Amino acid sequence: MAADDLKTLDARHVWHPFTQAQTAPEPPLVREGRGTVLVDSEGREHLDLISSWWTTLHGHGHPAITGAIARQAETLDHVIFAGFTHEPAVRLAGRLAGLMPGPLNRVFYSDNGSTAVEVALKAGLQYWRNHGDTARGRFLAFDGGYHGDTVGAMSAGAASGFFDPFAEMLFPVDVMPVAPTWQGDEAVAAKEAEALAALDRHLDAHGRETAAAVIEPLVQGAGGMRMHRPEFLRAVVERLQAAGVLVVLDEVMTGFGRTGPVFALEAAGVVPDMVCLSKGLTGGTLPVAATVATDAVHDAFLGEGIDTAFLHGHSFTAGPMGCAAGLASLDLLLDEACAERRRAIEAFHRGFLDAMADHPLVTRPRVQGTIMAFDVPAGGDAGYGAGVGPALKAHFRAEGLVIRPLGNVVYLMPPYSVTDAELQRAADGIRRALDALQQKT
Ligand SMILES: *Cc1c(COP(=O)(O)O)cnc(C)c1O
Repeated sequence: MAADDLKTLDARHVWHPFTQAQTAPEPPLVREGRGTVLVDSEGREHLDLISSWWTTLHGHGHPAITGAIARQAETLDHVIFAGFTHEPAVRLAGRLAGLMPGPLNRVFYSDNGSTAVEVALKAGLQYWRNHGDTARGRFLAFDGGYHGDTVGAMSAGAASGFFDPFAEMLFPVDVMPVAPTWQGDEAVAAKEAEALAALDRHLDAHGRETAAAVIEPLVQGAGGMRMHRPEFLRAVVERLQAAGVLVVLDEVMTGFGRTGPVFALEAAGVVPDMVCLSKGLTGGTLPVAATVATDAVHDAFLGEGIDTAFLHGHSFTAGPMGCAAGLASLDLLLDEACAERRRAIEAFHRGFLDAMADHPLVTRPRVQGTIMAFDVPAGGDAGYGAGVGPALKAHFRAEGLVIRPLGNVVYLMPPYSVTDAELQRAADGIRRALDALQQKT
């Protein structure tokens, strides 16, 4: 179909996510994706430096993954997962359990990050009910956290500020401070001590009423790429577990090498009760999610009747093609070449931020593995709605760079296949965009 006809149809019939249709620029019509490059209907190339919403791990169209999907499609496209099982789901569960710390052995599949969190919250509550504990009914989350767009996930992420129109739908969740930090932050120890003291006070008062706590480990993504130290995460998890609270790590974004190690929990040396995975799980090709639980959590659902079972599931739970993609993606991820590439991306990020250290529009520089971020000073206008966001986005788009600032936070999260030359193009484009913005102010 001709590009113009498609664009007219899009404008008439498509409702895009997280978009104000009245003011948004016309979206490029992407025809092809290869590695880091997206090609639009006019033949223009866009460098995908945010891994298409943090999903694409090994570049677009990786033949090892697309081949696995094609082969799986020929033998078994889909099958109900209640009462049936299949090889890709079984093998993927085994591999995920093998990559997680010891007790995290049980994989509950769903199909996106929000449902992975929703499953953890529901299982976290029913766990206590199945144990006959009716006191634990509260949930705890952390300031600036984002966990997805379904009701439970929104409730846990209410402090992110995305969900004001839905306030009446949300259930109350206790929100604890985190200790976001950056390069050269001298107040980090004091912030951490304060946040931990607040957590201690809360757990003293409500620990025995709390069913589960959910936290994004090391990097809070949608909340603005806010990073905290592994020591802080470990201290938080230790306190929660000492209070008997189930700990859910939302690794939907941080999983699969984003922060350096395969999972962020490794950096902190913690063993949570549940881990939520999605985005990178299939290398960013098909929607699959997993909530990995400990044997202890799983076993609380055993019994003679259906009443203690976990009555939750989605039509496309454990889709065979997605699971096959996940296996192929894991092979690529666990290859030493990928780890080396991730270290090279991190080194590039650090070099870039060093070179930009004196730029007046670069503050709070921070890197965690393959994720690089900084804040553009926006005065009172910071946050997701910050006016500098759209201005920067337009600059980046004109440069052929797919970089979507979160308000006044500029970040890169490239696929691991990104080349040094592509990273340099991004670095040069960011510098030009900031210089242009500075001239205007
Ligand atoms: C994106 C994200 C989610 C939600 O995942 P969806 O697949 O968009 O539903 C949940 N948690 C975190 C940390 C995320 O980054």
